Amino acid sequence: MEQEKNSILIIEDQALSIRVLSDILQSDYAIYIEKKSTKAFTTAKTLLPDLILLDIMMPEKSGFEVIAELKNDDVTKDIPVIFVTGLSNPENETRGLSEGAADYINKPYTPAIVKMRVQHQMMLVNLIRKLQMLSSTDELTGLRNRRDFMSTLQREWGRAKRDKSSLGVLMIDIDYFKDLNDTYGHINGDVALVQVAQVIRSQAKRPADMVARWGGEEFAVILPSTHKEGVGIVAEVIRKAIENHKLLIGGQSPISITVSIGTNCITPNRDEAYTAEDLISDADKALYKAKQDGRNRVCAHQ
Ligand code: GH3
Ligand code: MG
Ligand code: MG
Ligand code: MG
Repeated sequence: MEQEKNSILIIEDQALSIRVLSDILQSDYAIYIEKKSTKAFTTAKTLLPDLILLDIMMPEKSGFEVIAELKNDDVTKDIPVIFVTGLSNPENETRGLSEGAADYINKPYTPAIVKMRVQHQMMLVNLIRKLQMLSSTDELTGLRNRRDFMSTLQREWGRAKRDKSSLGVLMIDIDYFKDLNDTYGHINGDVALVQVAQVIRSQAKRPADMVARWGGEEFAVILPSTHKEGVGIVAEVIRKAIENHKLLIGGQSPISITVSIGTNCITPNRDEAYTAEDLISDADKALYKAKQDGRNRVCAHQ
């Protein structure tokens, strides 16, 4: 599959300058154009391009005003900005860079220089993205890792508080997993973990649902905007799907595996001391109860 092109938003009022930049860059990047300085910030926030080329001299708002807007918003502040300008003097260049621009290119354009400066920024963008991906992914299963789970949970907790919506979590632990490792070996144990991860992911279907590997043979799921009953239903669907899944490992005949699940669901209240961590630890207590009650079952925190 062809890799998706990186995107660039050109914010510039002059048609000629837009054409020159587009000609230089359009074979390598997806190009968007915004001619009106007053709409520049909104367009950037909507499109979320990988890089912005920003003119300084524009009617109504200068590039300096636009970059201030971009750097002042959490969603757009990390998009690198390159100033492209005819104002070639050291004062303006210094000002541009000190106000957060990643680079500064003078008109008239030398195509090779524009290409390379843009390429350098794009390399950084892609590298940072790759590092973010690696640092939030569990290597074995490809699921989100525990760190990413906790930051998503905090975000969803804040959202649930604002929207007064309910937030559900599941803590899932494979039953007697140590026995499986002892019988079939750790390598096959790992294969089993990958399969269980896939089954869980295939059952948490809404786009906002998040499945993570909590650690070892434990998984955790966030179910935003899901009421208590719905949380119980999803948990039961997952439990059943794993019970019905036949594990194929190491050329053995198919073996069965089960999980125990602790659930918790709450509509966070602004005034209460209950935290996202409490949500997890109470789900964990419910999981412990599910284990005690005989495993292969769902237990809800009361
Ligand atoms: P219970 O039903 O009470 O949960 O029993 P259990 O055997 O699943 O629980 P226990 O916590 O005693 O053992 C968990 C085992 O999971 C220990 C370890 O052998 C295994 N395990 C943890 N992480 C990994 C891993 O990354 N790969 C493999 N293959 N095994 C792992
Ligand atoms: Mg201009
Ligand atoms: Mg465990
Ligand atoms: Mg276990």
